[in-house]
Amino acid sequence: MGQMNDQIAVVTGAGRGIGKAIALRFAEEGANVVCLSRTESNAESAAEAVRAKGRRAWAFSVDISDTLETQEAAKAILKETGRVDILVNNAGVTRDDLLMRMSEEAWDTVLDTNLKGAFSMCKAFTRTFMKQRQGRIINISSVIGLMGNAGQTNYAASKAGLIGLTKSIARELAVRNVTCNAIAPGFIETDMTAELNEDQKEGILNQIPLKKLGNPDDIAHAAIYLAGPGGRYLTGQVLTVDGGMVM
Ligand code: NAP
Repeated sequence: MGQMNDQIAVVTGAGRGIGKAIALRFAEEGANVVCLSRTESNAESAAEAVRAKGRRAWAFSVDISDTLETQEAAKAILKETGRVDILVNNAGVTRDDLLMRMSEEAWDTVLDTNLKGAFSMCKAFTRTFMKQRQGRIINISSVIGLMGNAGQTNYAASKAGLIGLTKSIARELAVRNVTCNAIAPGFIETDMTAELNEDQKEGILNQIPLKKLGNPDDIAHAAIYLAGPGGRYLTGQVLTVDGGMVM
């Protein structure tokens, strides 16, 4: 028996990296998973991998920065699944640049995806969670949202914004037995961090007491904790999973 038997989880950005690891680990815990990603083939292959673990899966290709598209997708998801127990807002992007050079487009893309996308998803499933009197929302923030980073004003603002969103939703929905928490990963080995050069990696490792980057499963295990029985009495929290980088 898994910790999430027959629960239905929606995971955004499930096509790759951290989101895919969450989808697969949730499936191992017995969850059926809606794999939402921007690229259709990524969503499909994540769903296929969930099915290979003996669970049900649905693939949705959605650009979560597009509010209408996200609302339509949420309706279609509910039509297919009938209920949603867990929502993981994981999809995210970076468009790094120094403030002086940062374009409005880079700002908007990052805020619209990382923050507005999560807001749209939360809003779309709130009525369902409230009716069910049960739900777990997990927003994937970042240590950058806690500490800031030169060259990432847009990303840091989006990830700090997610923390404010998380705490406010936690307060609004607690009365309906819906929890909302954030995970703030440190540096995790995915496509997003593959762009770092050796010098940058060394600089980062120097700031991590555990002296290694994390892997997507490290975040998936934290998500299982928050979504499973262990997370029953936790809401409005930021769980930092970063090898000790921020303490
Ligand atoms: P990744 O490997 O780059 O994957 C990002 C995922 O988000 C992909 O599945 C992508 O979809 C999806 N996505 C991006 N824009 C989207 C949009 N507009 N609509 C729908 N889906 C979209 O990233 P990752 O490293 O796994 O990161 C996952 C989350 O963790 C992000 O929110 C990131 O900010 C956060 N995080 C990562 C790290 C790290 O070190 N890696 C650290 C802290 C926080 P497609 O694959 O279909 O394009």
